[in-house]
Amino acid sequence: MTPLTTPAPLSLGNGIHLVPVPLPFKSPPWVNTYAVEANGGLLLLDCGTDWDRGREAIREGFSTLGLEESAVHTLVVSHLHPDHVGMAARLIEEWGCRFVMHERATKLVDRYNDTPGYIERLTRIATGHGVPDFTMAEITDVVRPDYMPPISPPDKTVEDGDIIDIGGGRSLEVVHTPGHEPTHICLRDSRTGILFSGDHVLPRISPVIMYDEDLGDVLGDYLGSLQKLLDLGIGVTYPAHGTLIDQGGERTRQLLLHHDRRLLDMAELVRTGDTNAWKVMLKSFRPNLEPLQARLAFLETISHLEHLRLTGRIQVEERNGLMIYLS
Ligand SMILES: [Zn+2]
Repeated sequence: MTPLTTPAPLSLGNGIHLVPVPLPFKSPPWVNTYAVEANGGLLLLDCGTDWDRGREAIREGFSTLGLEESAVHTLVVSHLHPDHVGMAARLIEEWGCRFVMHERATKLVDRYNDTPGYIERLTRIATGHGVPDFTMAEITDVVRPDYMPPISPPDKTVEDGDIIDIGGGRSLEVVHTPGHEPTHICLRDSRTGILFSGDHVLPRISPVIMYDEDLGDVLGDYLGSLQKLLDLGIGVTYPAHGTLIDQGGERTRQLLLHHDRRLLDMAELVRTGDTNAWKVMLKSFRPNLEPLQARLAFLETISHLEHLRLTGRIQVEERNGLMIYLS
């Protein structure tokens, strides 16, 4: 397979410019950042991880498109994952721009910055949900990467339904879409109806929905956030990874269907005998996953089992410190 190279920057019309920024991992290989002409300057949506190749790609992309970095007055970040917010501190420092995120980010930034806390939560979940001893180290071996330096809280926060005025009677409406991550927002352009979907709706891949003991029914949140987009009647959608989507509504329906099927399959697995999340994961995903992929698949499995439990379709029982799912 030929490695996917980061595509060239492109002006998309309507004052919107796409600058793809490479990421220091295989999948996804790049993040789409969007520079939107706003109030005589530019608003940048998402920024990639903090590494020099990414910083260089922004510089070169702007220059190719005839844009000035000094014109960026606002950085909006769709959610608190390093491939979206990683370089925020560096850019804010260089540009002196304001930093906008959903209001939940104010508190959750501390968690983003706290790797020991994450490892502790992960170990507790892995222990309770059946990760065997010989795999435990692989699943919980998290080293904070250099491309993820600590960040400060946003200096301006937005909530669902807020309007970001970009001048000329045009605005970006904030649509809060928790699920993939609790601060996740999409932005809807009032002039064109285009939806900037972040990771909430992606072409081809389904964003990982990770169980988190503090967040309740994360899959329920995600499915609700997908339905919200259908209710809005979205069309052309500009995602944070991959190619642009013509029919956002269609893609949203596919994602709903994907999770419906997975829920049915997992409910069926539980019906065939009492089990735990780790065993359900092994039967639901392809074998021999790399440690990071296995961790994500495991957390995705628990979010599905917990959604089934919280909607009354299966039950859970604690036996010797292990969470056992049963029908
Ligand atoms: Zn992402």
